[in-house]
Amino acid sequence: MNDCIFCKIVKGEIPSNKVYEDEKVLAFLDIGPVNKGHTLVIPKKHFTNIFDIEQDDLDAVSKAVRKISPAIKKAVNADGLNIMSSNGKAAGQLVLHSHIHIIPRFKDDGLKHWPQSKYKEGEAEEVKKKIKENL
Ligand code: 5GP
Ligand code: ZN
Repeated sequence: MNDCIFCKIVKGEIPSNKVYEDEKVLAFLDIGPVNKGHTLVIPKKHFTNIFDIEQDDLDAVSKAVRKISPAIKKAVNADGLNIMSSNGKAAGQLVLHSHIHIIPRFKDDGLKHWPQSKYKEGEAEEVKKKIKENL
């Protein structure tokens, strides 16, 4: 049995405010918007996140994000958009069906990005080396 809430939205078993649909992709308004117009773009096929999504489906999602973004910006008269995705529970992913958030932003919306840190001497080179070894 598939209990995935986004699969149920794809199948129409749960209602959603759809803004875009094609063969591989669905986009609908987030039920708890950060700002009005906050949209989720998902592959219709179930994948958990970036670690298992197939390249074709990711490409289709990416293409849809490019198409929808200007329409969202215009619709709510936003000054900018954050386009982001949480991958894994530790990253704050609550719904385990791959999705990208498009979040309208306004000059005075008061939202802050996460705090940044600094690398110690030599640490960035070490991290870079490890990433490249794992490609
Ligand atoms: P995550 O934290 O997994 O990146 O984000 C999941 C998002 O899905 C949240 O922003 C949440 O508001 C949204 N969401 C959860 N359940 C539903 C639902 O049933 N319908 C819609 N439209 N959005 C949902
Ligand atoms: Zn799913």
